[in-house]
Amino acid sequence: MTQQTQQYTKALGSRLRAIRQQQGLSLQGVEEKSNGRWKAVVVGSYERGDRAVTVQKLSELAAFYGVPMSELIPGGGQFGAARELSSKLVVDLERLHELDTEEAAPLSRFVATVQAQRGDYNGKMLSIRQDDLRTLAVIYAEAPSQVVDRMQLWGILRQPDRAAATA
Ligand code: C2E
Ligand code: C2E
Repeated sequence: MTQQTQQYTKALGSRLRAIRQQQGLSLQGVEEKSNGRWKAVVVGSYERGDRAVTVQKLSELAAFYGVPMSELIPGGGQFGAARELSSKLVVDLERLHELDTEEAAPLSRFVATVQAQRGDYNGKMLSIRQDDLRTLAVIYAEAPSQVVDRMQLWGILRQPDRAAATA
């Protein structure tokens, strides 16, 4: 897999996990609800991005979750974008600073600027303005929803409404 494909597979996986968690299902719950059609280990490996999912499988998973397929595609679908943009974005600063990828540098600089403007140095987390998500989207040359996917992929978003369900 190229690095880009790998990133995409991981972003797709976090999207799959988000949809499952929104439905309050554990991986085991998916296996049970589907009468064994979707094995917990298989869905888990899709979610971690360890295993690439075919379009056929993706469409069947979308049907199982009862969502349009575009919802499962990173940055795809107006519903996906609208949902991401409507939830509060809280960045886990400790995790952000632990990230070992150059791609995170613009975000780190951005966050540092906001901290300075607010005079907020609690150092643990920082809420980001929705408006600033658009700025970040320009910086990263991608859609705002893809910036959210990226942050999810890096594991730096705190989303209390989603944290309740665990694998
Ligand atoms: P400002 O936009 O004129 O906001 C003035 C003050 O209003 C802020 O002072 C803050 O106390 C309050 N405030 C504004 N929007 C919000 C909000 O959504 N939630 C809460 N809880 N309070 C809000 P503060 O924090 O000292 O920030 C000073 C200035 O720094 C802001 O002036 C703005 O120009 C800039 N700034 C701070 N944080 C951000 C940010 O996240 N994004 C951007 N673009 N600018 C920011
Ligand atoms: P929050 O304080 O819970 O505010 C939620 C939303 O209410 C904000 O979403 C914004 O749409 C609106 N809002 C609250 N206070 C103000 C204000 O003084 N002026 C304006 N124009 N709108 C306001 P938004 O912008 O997406 O911000 C999300 C979160 O980011 C805020 O949640 C807050 O925790 C943080 N934040 C944003 N801007 C600032 C700021 O300037 N200073 C500080 N300290 N925090 C900020």
